[in-house]
Amino acid sequence: MTRTARAAVCRDWNQPIGVETIQVEPPRRDEVTIRLHACGVCHSDLSAATGVIAFPPPLVLGHEGAGEVVAVGEGVEDFQAGDRVITSFVSMCGTCRYCNAGRPVLCETVNSALTTLPDGTVRTHDGDGNALNVFSGCGVMAEYATLHVNNVVPVTDDVPMDRAALVGCAVMTGVGAVFNTAQLEPGSTAVVFGAGGVGLNVIQGCRIAGARQIVAVDMSEDKLETARQFGATDTVLADDKAPKAVRKLTGGADYAFECVGRGAVAEQAYACLGKGGTVIIVGVAPRDDMTRINTLSLPAQERGIRGSWFGSARPRYDFPRLFGLYAGGQLLLDELVSQRYTIEEAPRAFADMEAGRNARGVILFE
Ligand code: NAD
Ligand code: ZN
Repeated sequence: MTRTARAAVCRDWNQPIGVETIQVEPPRRDEVTIRLHACGVCHSDLSAATGVIAFPPPLVLGHEGAGEVVAVGEGVEDFQAGDRVITSFVSMCGTCRYCNAGRPVLCETVNSALTTLPDGTVRTHDGDGNALNVFSGCGVMAEYATLHVNNVVPVTDDVPMDRAALVGCAVMTGVGAVFNTAQLEPGSTAVVFGAGGVGLNVIQGCRIAGARQIVAVDMSEDKLETARQFGATDTVLADDKAPKAVRKLTGGADYAFECVGRGAVAEQAYACLGKGGTVIIVGVAPRDDMTRINTLSLPAQERGIRGSWFGSARPRYDFPRLFGLYAGGQLLLDELVSQRYTIEEAPRAFADMEAGRNARGVILFE
């Protein structure tokens, strides 16, 4: 059956985000419909609403959801109604060379479908029957959503839904950037630019991986305070002199993580590195943004620069690992949720994020 859902929708770039009633079609082959319990508010949703991420509107926002399966389509064998799941915003075919290489975030078969389901169509329509795009195969800032079965991952009963949701983007992206992409060695030094929802998870990823020094850089004193709670050993207020301060503290960092989404910050991160150091770019910059680095310093000092998408996730392998770390008390999830909102309050949740008020804001559905 088609379901009616309240959803956060971007109607046009740089217009206020609206909450409207949408129609969600039942699952087709290899799809599931879920009833959302929680959805985190990520800076990438805001970037899509402002056109920094150029997803064409109208667009149902949300890619960090947790909920329960309410209907399964033909061919779905691993899930049934009542199962608890988290969403994964990376569409993967499971058979291409990248999926086979354990790098589904690079899947070349279906990942080009960034605002539809993997087959290029959508299950979402507005009140007038017009199709609505969905954020990265998800669109889960809504009471219901129909997704491809490869975009959901099971979660056990012991993790509350508002915390489980965050694993679907911020936690996987941040901790994965450390574990999977950087493969940070114990005893390393690291600097993290941007201590928001993603950066805080890079910081705790560095702590869990055994970094001996973790410097957080942010423009907000409050964020730096939270960064210490997540494992930062030192903090530096963001300005032009930040790289000099970080070099003084670390003697030149082994790893520098950019979690803001600006070439200028990537350059600062690069300037923090010691010999042999690597910058990991996590922030999503506008399309025309450029980063300038001194070419000779790459070979002469064996420095590196690389990107990390969704923490190089293998969702069904990595999500359970993360929940194990939460159960063991190493991964902080409770502390990440700084504010809870209803779906009607979604516009305020975005305003609060923009104003830097939240570690992570989470929408809770009744
Ligand atoms: P957020 O708004 O929660 O946090 C951003 C933080 O950066 C804030 O604390 C802010 O004060 C700080 N900041 C802003 N300008 C700064 C500067 N010049 N120097 C240092 N700090 C600065 O955002 P978020 O949800 O944590 O997302 C961060 C970035 O990561 C965004 O660009 C988002 O699109 C991106 N992202 C990437 C992936 C991925 O797969 N690579 C996944 C999710 C989000
Ligand atoms: Zn996100």
